[in-house]
Amino acid sequence: MVAKVLAKSLSYTVVCPYRALLEIAFGYRPPETEEMKAGEELHRRLGFDNEITFSKDIEIYTIIGKPDKIGDEIQELKTTRHYSRKDIPEYVIEQATTQLGIYLWLTGRVKGRLLIYSMTRDAFIYECKVLPLSDDDIVKLLDKAFRGQQTKNSDVCEKCYLNPICKNRSLVSYCVWT
Ligand code: SF4
Repeated sequence: MVAKVLAKSLSYTVVCPYRALLEIAFGYRPPETEEMKAGEELHRRLGFDNEITFSKDIEIYTIIGKPDKIGDEIQELKTTRHYSRKDIPEYVIEQATTQLGIYLWLTGRVKGRLLIYSMTRDAFIYECKVLPLSDDDIVKLLDKAFRGQQTKNSDVCEKCYLNPICKNRSLVSYCVWT
């Protein structure tokens, strides 16, 4: 059996493995909000609108992902209402960097760039180079995701759309491991 795993869901393992597990095993996805629609519109306006989906097999999994922009380098754009980089929590950068690292692994490219755009300032406020993940890195992420440990970071939980489901963790655990 080959299980399909979205790169974005897998990348949340570095923030909360339990969120990654719920998305991978149960297909949960964040509800579409007005904020998300505004972000998507901005992606189109700035040309971060690649439509090509990539996939690659590893062990029993097929990892699937659609990078925002493909050129000399693979670019990932994140939008925010924050005014400057110092206001953005580190876990947001870590998740985005991991997502892009997976995209580089998926596409076989070596150069990646993460960009963050402030919708409040209407300006880019951060960019950094990102390197590809290795096969070992991907397997480690998958192992960690399927262990499903919940994060202890209350700031992450406060903003997480899965918060109500987490209260019923015993039910979900029963479904996964029996
Ligand atoms: S509410 Fe917290 S522990 Fe639960 S899935 Fe979201 S981030 Fe993870």
